[in-house]
Amino acid sequence: MPGNWQFTSLDAEIAADLAEFVPERVFDAHAHLYRLRDLPEPPPAFLQEGPAKVTPRVWRARLERQVGRGRVTGGLLMPFPTPGCDVALVNRRLLEDLDRDEASVGALLIAPDSDCVELTAALEHPRVVALKPYHCFSPRASTQDSRLGEYLPEWAWRLANERGLVIVLHVVRHGALSDPGNQRTIVAMCRRYPSARLQLAHAARGFHAPNTVRGIAAIEGLENVWFDSSGICEAAALVAILRAFGPSRLMFGSDFPVSEIRGRCVTVGDGFLWLYPETLDWQAVQPPVRPTLVGLESLRALRAAARIMGLSRAAVQRVFHDTARDLYGTR
Ligand SMILES: [Zn+2]
Repeated sequence: MPGNWQFTSLDAEIAADLAEFVPERVFDAHAHLYRLRDLPEPPPAFLQEGPAKVTPRVWRARLERQVGRGRVTGGLLMPFPTPGCDVALVNRRLLEDLDRDEASVGALLIAPDSDCVELTAALEHPRVVALKPYHCFSPRASTQDSRLGEYLPEWAWRLANERGLVIVLHVVRHGALSDPGNQRTIVAMCRRYPSARLQLAHAARGFHAPNTVRGIAAIEGLENVWFDSSGICEAAALVAILRAFGPSRLMFGSDFPVSEIRGRCVTVGDGFLWLYPETLDWQAVQPPVRPTLVGLESLRALRAAARIMGLSRAAVQRVFHDTARDLYGTR
């Protein structure tokens, strides 16, 4: 079976089928760049199967295989967060990458114990527009159960509020957006810090779609909340966001390098499951199935959501480009 990172004739067929839906200008609101040698040993297995140095050029070339050549205008680039990674080092690398790609903006990785001096210095870069907290820096043993405040400290909200920064947040806990604690903290902090802008990644981590569908009402009406579509392979969570917030709050994101994984993430029972060789024996599936890349599955979900909502071409263009341009202040 073809692996991760490959681009097969099936992948090309699916991308060609999506080409009519994807607009001419695509801004990727969620992409991770990294160098394998900067990550703690051993790097995640699927990263080891791909390029050792993921520069803006590599990301652009890979993404354009999926969305169409010449379409990627820029992206919100961020380091790849892993437990125990050297936050200062990967942030320095991000600044170098931003200097190589003038149409992109960046998000700095932050941990609860981030060095304030280093962070302030990195924020001097004119195209650093966002902060990226991550649950793997939470002190809790099972970091997937972390409460928001354990990995997104209040100082980060204050900083974002002072400087109009975006906070790219991957919420966790079993209920994600339907978790009452997550809901309370999001509402309280967004109101207390109205100039901070919250980007709820992965459709508010709607990998279990009903979490976003049920939870969205609790944050409806907040003026400083956006969403990205990255990694989401089902339409339901995207539809819920479009209904509650409209296309000026939803942004296409690839979650590169996750977009290069062969498989799909699906709602199962009370949770979600990433279908890939570690969780599913594709060879045993009858009738036979040829899996495609997560990035293409995610584009199909976004297209399905756009069709269900009857989005105009202009609205689709907002989701793929204009909303991000307005949020990040890019061109
Ligand atoms: Zn991500």
